[in-house]
Formats: sequence, structure tokens, C-alpha cells
Amino acid sequence: MSGADRAPAPSRADRLAELLRERDLDALLVTNLVNLRYLTGFTGTNGLALVRADGERAFLTDFRYLDQAEAQVPGEFERIRGKESLLEDAAPRLTGRVGFDDEHMTVKAHERLGAHVGEDVTLVAAGGLVEELRAVKEPGEVVRIARAAKIVDEALRALAEAGLTGRTERAVAISLERDLRERGAEGPSFPIIVAGGAHGALPHAGLRDEPIPADALVIVDLGAIVEGSCSDCTRTFATGALDGEPAEVYALVLAAQERALEAVRPGAGVVEVDAVAREAIADGGHGERFGHGLGHGVGLEIHERPRLSPRGEGTLAAGNVVTVEPGVYVSGAFGVRIEDLVVVREEGPEVLSRFPKALVTVE
Ligand code: ZN
Ligand code: ZN
Repeated sequence: MSGADRAPAPSRADRLAELLRERDLDALLVTNLVNLRYLTGFTGTNGLALVRADGERAFLTDFRYLDQAEAQVPGEFERIRGKESLLEDAAPRLTGRVGFDDEHMTVKAHERLGAHVGEDVTLVAAGGLVEELRAVKEPGEVVRIARAAKIVDEALRALAEAGLTGRTERAVAISLERDLRERGAEGPSFPIIVAGGAHGALPHAGLRDEPIPADALVIVDLGAIVEGSCSDCTRTFATGALDGEPAEVYALVLAAQERALEAVRPGAGVVEVDAVAREAIADGGHGERFGHGLGHGVGLEIHERPRLSPRGEGTLAAGNVVTVEPGVYVSGAFGVRIEDLVVVREEGPEVLSRFPKALVTVE
């Protein structure tokens, strides 16, 4: 079949329009900047997209971003120069049942919009529709996320060479961040965590200026951004010989992580996948010490859908990119977390994080 015979792949806006028809909406106003970037490629800080179920698409921005919109926003969108409030500029174009992003729009903005739309317009809370599309990655996005994951693997390898003992957590984090950039990342995808010894028992530990002790466990959690796409990975290192309990807990978390990875497949319930790790850790006697969800989706944002958690909803789908990151935190003593980034595939999970998971000793 020649290229000319092939129908073009549906754009993201086409897929959104399909979703609008399913939800009985005539249009969606997209105001959240991450969702706007996903749909249109626009990276500025003031813009709005209007996607109609019947095909019409408009993109509004102010005079500062006209050139940028011309370069970034595809021609399927009519590009419109807004005057003052983009919501007010969009209002006269709205008809029927119009979804708005109630997860992000302020009450004030909603009131202003309501005051400017015609009488035949019904505003419908419809947050999460673009997020639903974003949860299933296209091949190009997976490539960018995999590149971001590879940069982290390389940075972890360099860290293992450079050593940890005696350096401060802050110094290690700063050098990791610089390393990510030197290896081609736009930057870290969130503030890097380096937490040694008892400090590792705090899952979201801040950086300290104290030296990392010998013979301790150190949690290192970091991610990179490549062309807007994030990665996320945690490894727990040893800085020397360990007593019995930290080594046992490490083995328990690793076993739980690997069992949960095996459960990652299309159709698996997010609560059930979380439970695989949670039960393994509870069976090992540390159930009360795994206080966070098993994982989260990663893409344009470091935390997105789906959420693997006892309170999560729905099932995994092929093309989801999620973390699998159980942890055990022994207050006042140490913490262990092991986190991989994986693509959900029919043929089994594709693990993007390649740095070894067997306990690595770095002095
Ligand atoms: Zn992480
Ligand atoms: Zn994570």
C-alpha cells in the first residue's frame, strides 16, 4: 500500500473529539498548561484550546505568544489572537454542552466564563479527559521517556564510581543534577532525593548538609526530563557492611518489587497490582512500614495517571508508563525503596530502568 492510500493517524485532538462524543459533550475548553502542551505542542504560559466534537479546533493566545504558537501549534487548530481574558474571548464561540476542566479551573475563572457564554450553553465539569488520553503513551513518547530513564541509569553508574560515604546528601544531589544535564537532560524531573541512614526512613526526605555515614543504606530517587518527558527511578545503596535487619528488608522489598512487576499487564486492576507488593511486604512482617502507593504514571508530568494504590481506580492499559516502587521505612533506623519505570505491554512489562537492583555497595 502506498503512503498516499493510508489514512493519517488520528491526532491527539481527534482522539479527544472521539472521547467528547462518547461523553455527550459538544466541546471541551482546555486551559491547563500541561494538557494544552499535550494537545497542541504549545509551551508558553498563556493559552487556551477549544476542541469541538464536530471537528472545529481553535487555539487562543495573547500577542506575546503569537510567533511561538505559529511555530508550535499544528494547522488543525485555528490560531486566534486573544485580547484580554482568553476565556472571555472563547466564550462567544461556545454552543451546547461545553466541558471545562474543573480539576484545574478556579472558581473565579468559572464564574467569569459563565457570565460571558450564551444562554444556550451548559458548562459541564469534565476534568480528567485529556489526562485520560495522556495515560496511554504513543511510541514517540515512550522513546523520550526511555531516553530520560537511560540518562538516569548512566548517572547512577557514575555515582557508584564516585562514592557516597562522607559526602553530604546535598553535594551528591547537586552533582547528580549536573550530571543529568551534561548527559543531555533538560533537568531533573523533580527535586532529587538523597537520604542516608535514619533519614532514609522519611519517604520524601529533604536534602541535608550532613555527611553520609559508612555501613548505612542510602536512598537515591531521581528522574530526568527529555523533550518534556519525565523519568523516575530509585535505588537504595549500601555504604559498607550491613547488620542483619537492613539486608533482610532490602531482600524483602526487592522480592515485593519483582512480584509486583510480574503483575503489571493490560487489564490488571491498579488496586490488585498494588496489593501484590503490599501483601509480600506484610507477609515479611513490615506491612505497617509501606505507607505510600506502589506507583504512578509518568509522562509530561512526574505524577500522572494511572495511580497504583489501594485508593487507585481502574485497570492498566497497554501503553501506560508507570513506576513500581515499594518501600519499607523503619523509623529512626533506615529506609529501602526500589523503583523501576515500566511500559505496560501485552507481551509483558518493558522495564526502562536498567541499573542493577541487587544491593550495590558504594563506599
Ligand atoms: Zn522516584
Ligand atoms: Zn516515583
